[in-house]
Amino acid sequence: MLGSFAYRHNPVWAQELLISVRSSLRGLMREGRAFEAMAAELHESQWWSERELRDFQSRQLRMIVESAARDVPYYRDRYRALELDVARLEFPEAVAKLPLITKADVREGGKSLLSGRRRGPLFPGSTSGTTGAPLTLQQDLAVITRENAFIWRQLAWAGLRRGERRAWMRGDMVVPATQRKPPYWRLNRAENMLMLSSYHLSEGAAPTYVESLARFDPVVIQAYPSSIGFLATWMLNAGIRYGGRSLRGIVTSSETLPGSRRREIEDAFGCRVFDWYGQFERVAAIGTCEHGRYHLLSDYSYVELLPAEDGLFELAGTGFNNLAMPLIRYRCGDYVRPAPAGERCACGRSFPLIDEVVGRADDPVVLPDGRSIGRLDHVFKGVGGILEAQIRQERPGTVTLLVVPSATYGERTRDTLLANARERLGDEIALELLTVPAIPRTRNGKFKGVVCNVPGAVPNVS
Ligand SMILES: [Zn+2]
Repeated sequence: MLGSFAYRHNPVWAQELLISVRSSLRGLMREGRAFEAMAAELHESQWWSERELRDFQSRQLRMIVESAARDVPYYRDRYRALELDVARLEFPEAVAKLPLITKADVREGGKSLLSGRRRGPLFPGSTSGTTGAPLTLQQDLAVITRENAFIWRQLAWAGLRRGERRAWMRGDMVVPATQRKPPYWRLNRAENMLMLSSYHLSEGAAPTYVESLARFDPVVIQAYPSSIGFLATWMLNAGIRYGGRSLRGIVTSSETLPGSRRREIEDAFGCRVFDWYGQFERVAAIGTCEHGRYHLLSDYSYVELLPAEDGLFELAGTGFNNLAMPLIRYRCGDYVRPAPAGERCACGRSFPLIDEVVGRADDPVVLPDGRSIGRLDHVFKGVGGILEAQIRQERPGTVTLLVVPSATYGERTRDTLLANARERLGDEIALELLTVPAIPRTRNGKFKGVVCNVPGAVPNVS
């Protein structure tokens, strides 16, 4: 709706009315009695002991595996070949006897992953497909309600109560792309929420963004790390202090949040950042508590950590709620570094601690000799004079650094960046550096550190 011709050609007040109406309709669907019940349950389960969480996971796994083995053709066929007696399996450990599945399996499996016993309407949705082709999944209303209840628990950890003012900068197309002057935000009265565009950020627009936030004075800001991070970097560079008085926390999600970026956002806005990790497949979620620690939410799903390189582990999860299209032992392709075993958080919750969410690796760049080079974000690490930067490869043999310069940008910045890139990419590839007013976002308004449109690039973690 927000991308429609009618929306784009309405005045701001009419756009805000449309946003509020859409929001109210969604609220009716997502925040009814089922939501209240779920929210109350999650309020309790956050304080469960390790033993209670484990018992809960065992019961849920048994239920989901039994129903999948009985009602879902894909699992029925695969599990039959294993000759397992599901009723006698000891969960949660026994789930490891079942095969792992990947995004490719789910794509190929198609409709055979749908349960023959499903009831009620299904809501199709797609993964964003930042790496590889998008994946379409079917979810029932229970999944959507439960996800929403978990998000609200995270917002509560950040200090937000329902009904309080919040700001939102998460890739919604609330402002037409053709608009060239403020306001780059719209007010959603139904949710008491200021929605800011992730697509209009530039050095020139930054002051009006920061002023509009301070004037609205939200209790919590929900944002892509790249969107709120852009403003934070600009504020620190320009020596601007955030003027709002009510801000208790910033909840980031949907992109990897590097530690340096988290510190910048916390410095600029003077509050804690609560990073949330989730995915559309709904098989794993990681939240941030009041003590700033990552917790793997074991009342959300059952997650196994598969050892990978460099002390990292890949998340493989089994969602508890989607009986219509269950994903069992689904490899997320995302990586984490767990905290040392036995470490406890001062918040008192028993959810396992995670030291770092590495997420998905950026695209690699392809060198003329065929090598793929990943983790190129290091090229910009610790270099001053930059508001934002991206590495792009549109054709073999050439790599472009796009840089949004800050006031302190100069020859030295340029030389350091080119030297850093040269060090990682070698002498065989041509390098160019362009300063630009803004970095283009993906279709979802997300930021990508490296974009490679040359065939042969295989995403890797190294
Ligand atoms: Zn904690």
